[in-house]
Amino acid sequence: MTKRLTLSAFGCLLAATLLAADPPPPTPVAVKAARLLDVKTGRYVERPVVVVVGGRIESVGTAVPAGARVIDLGDRVLLPGLIDTHTHILLQGDPTAVEYDEQILKEYPAHRVARAVRSLKIALEHGFTTMRDVETEGAGYDDVALRDAVNEGVIPGPRMKVVGPALSTTGSYPIQRYRPDWKFPSGVMVCDGADGCRKAVREQLSYGVDWIKIYANTGGLRITPDGYIDSPPNWTKEEIEAVVSEAHAHGVRVAAHARSDTGLRIALAAGVDSIEHGDSIRPEAAAEMARRGIFLVPTLTVADYVAGPRTAAGCAVCAHTEKVHAKSFENCRKAGVKIAFGTDAGGFPWTEINQAKELEFEVKLGMTPIEAIRSATTVAADLLGMTGQVGTVEKGAFADLVALPGDPLANVSALSNIDFVMKGGEVVKAPSP
Ligand SMILES: [Zn+2]
Repeated sequence: MTKRLTLSAFGCLLAATLLAADPPPPTPVAVKAARLLDVKTGRYVERPVVVVVGGRIESVGTAVPAGARVIDLGDRVLLPGLIDTHTHILLQGDPTAVEYDEQILKEYPAHRVARAVRSLKIALEHGFTTMRDVETEGAGYDDVALRDAVNEGVIPGPRMKVVGPALSTTGSYPIQRYRPDWKFPSGVMVCDGADGCRKAVREQLSYGVDWIKIYANTGGLRITPDGYIDSPPNWTKEEIEAVVSEAHAHGVRVAAHARSDTGLRIALAAGVDSIEHGDSIRPEAAAEMARRGIFLVPTLTVADYVAGPRTAAGCAVCAHTEKVHAKSFENCRKAGVKIAFGTDAGGFPWTEINQAKELEFEVKLGMTPIEAIRSATTVAADLLGMTGQVGTVEKGAFADLVALPGDPLANVSALSNIDFVMKGGEVVKAPSP
């Protein structure tokens, strides 16, 4: 009895000590600027004060609460952090097959990871506070590890949704046509048949991926008589259906790389959630995407980057793809397809091109500046299943904020000059005084 009493007294003492040692509530941070772009309404809010507590937005108003630490951004425009839904942090620019093979075959894994760490920092400092990384190209599940390292605070980087190695079928993806009697690495995880691909999805999920990605088509692109692009598909409908049903059963979405008609149609029929690139989308396919809520992620920056080098390397279709792509983009806009911002960074060098350049390409193809900005905020958040968490400045969202001089509604290229970045309430980059 005595012992029990002593123990319970000790328990009370311990609880009291723990209560006394509770850290004080975090000091609110008030972020002030000349204007806040409300991306939902497309209007500026004058003299906003965004109050941040513990990594989340507590309120959006005009008053600084008592005791708050103030960050005054002067005449800048404040926006939510940007979201790029198509990147490859483990790639460093591969305009042609020769350069791709060089990276996959020769670069040591640690070297690739080291360069990926740099890519993450560059993206974050450009104002991209969230990214979906859609395949490691021969680097296994290193994207899962990098995502976790960012979340642990080991390295700086955007919030990541990752796919690990993308899936494709036998013979459809590089490394290709090297000595058959030697074993070479593949840029993807290969699976065949509905059962085999269902097993591949199960394996990938067990390693902690957030999304599944497939290549609906790859080689053999040709221009069709009516000016679109076609090629042999990589999959049967049954195979993609197996991938989709297994992923969806676990609450995981499926992205499909589709640059040509037949592969696109099979992927849509099998129920994928996003079409990546979408170089060739006829009006009927666009209507189906709109009706079923399937997103397009157009990656216009990489299309511009690779067209020249690939044409020079002997790709006959490559000189025409940008024109077909523009027509497909227009078909999707007319049909009301949700278009999410995605650049394919890594397909071009992280060190050379700011991902925000994609906004300029989107506007060039007909979007208004606010539509382009929504593609990189609210629409991208919807694609990632993170509505209300990212891509918005509102109570309860992550405190992911960026600011810049100039007027992004007059000229989206202003978004290439973001000089203040906050992620989860922590200042990552601030204008020099
Ligand atoms: Zn890509």
